[in-house]
Amino acid sequence: MSAPVVKGWCPGALRPMMSGDGLVVRVRPRGGRLLPEQAAGLAALARRYGNGLIDLSARANVQLRGVSALGHRPLIEGLAALGLIDETTEAESRRNIVATPFWSEGDRVQEIAASLAAALGAEGAPDTPGKFGYAVDCAGEPVLTAVSADIRVESGPGDSLLVRPDGAATGAMVSADQVAEIALELARWFLSTGGAPQGRGRMAPHIARGAILPEAFTEVPGVPRAAKPSPAPGRVAQGWMVALEFGQMTAETLSYLAEIGPLRTTPWRMLLIEGALEAPGCAGVITDPWHPLLNVTACTGAPACPQGQIATRTLAQRLSVALPPGLGLHVSGCSKGCAHPAPAPLTLVGRPGGTVDLIRDGSSSDEPALTGLHPETLTAELLSEAEDAP
Ligand code: SF4
Repeated sequence: MSAPVVKGWCPGALRPMMSGDGLVVRVRPRGGRLLPEQAAGLAALARRYGNGLIDLSARANVQLRGVSALGHRPLIEGLAALGLIDETTEAESRRNIVATPFWSEGDRVQEIAASLAAALGAEGAPDTPGKFGYAVDCAGEPVLTAVSADIRVESGPGDSLLVRPDGAATGAMVSADQVAEIALELARWFLSTGGAPQGRGRMAPHIARGAILPEAFTEVPGVPRAAKPSPAPGRVAQGWMVALEFGQMTAETLSYLAEIGPLRTTPWRMLLIEGALEAPGCAGVITDPWHPLLNVTACTGAPACPQGQIATRTLAQRLSVALPPGLGLHVSGCSKGCAHPAPAPLTLVGRPGGTVDLIRDGSSSDEPALTGLHPETLTAELLSEAEDAP
């Protein structure tokens, strides 16, 4: 069985990744926010230089798909005019920041995200691995604990903030204007203590292997928190949350949403429409919190991903309709599990030849309970029985 290719880096805008449907150009909106003119401009660029399909990534970024090699340069010029481009590939790769979308004026989230972005873009910033990232999660109770990040900025005791290494129960207590400096100090410690041999590595495994944190990061215990489930579509204090089918929308949908208000990107494949007082009525946008597609996750799969062994979304869509509520299903085109690296109650993985393996309570690289299944004959009933089996 051929193993999927692990690239160890994430696509950006300046360094796009080739996929089965052309280049994937990933844009990192600053502070996870697109102003209406930026969102409308992105939609126009996706139509003009891509295939008009736009993904939301698990780190709250926006991906334009199907861009040709010739279209890449004018696309970058268009993105630069919208203020959506970094100065260098290195700065873009380092600026891996997810900000909570539930921020409000005056709670410091946007200021901290901006100061962190500026520090990561400056000369001499630590050259961390491509997947190394930061979560700015200090608008009250943290909501990003299940979102991939290596350095977390959370609320500390009283009015303070905590810079906490992922995987550690403690962090350093700081003020808002110290966050960037202290976070980068922690990133430098990670590199200097061998956290990224051969340029790859993450904070939590480094700490689990016994790396001794600098004293400043061991003094204040973080509040123990369980991972929060993804929020559901609906009204929130800051506006209206909408989900996108498989985290993907068309340029037309993005244009439509841009007319309502600024858009906040989220790591849950949802958009928060700032200030919206009612659900938007637009094809491809999920506003019903009980929608069957919210129960399933599926990666791009075949044919748009060259590693995809099956058409993941067609299968996930068909199965979602009859799945019992709450039975989470992840359909992965190969064992890489891009769309949902964490365990799920049921995971289907495409194999060479187009068959499917079923994994119970695990992730896409775990040992399967059933192998050699045929996508056409798979039913939701069969999956429910498999879930119930001892
Ligand atoms: S998990 Fe899906 S998107 Fe990721 S490489 Fe495999 S087929 Fe492609």
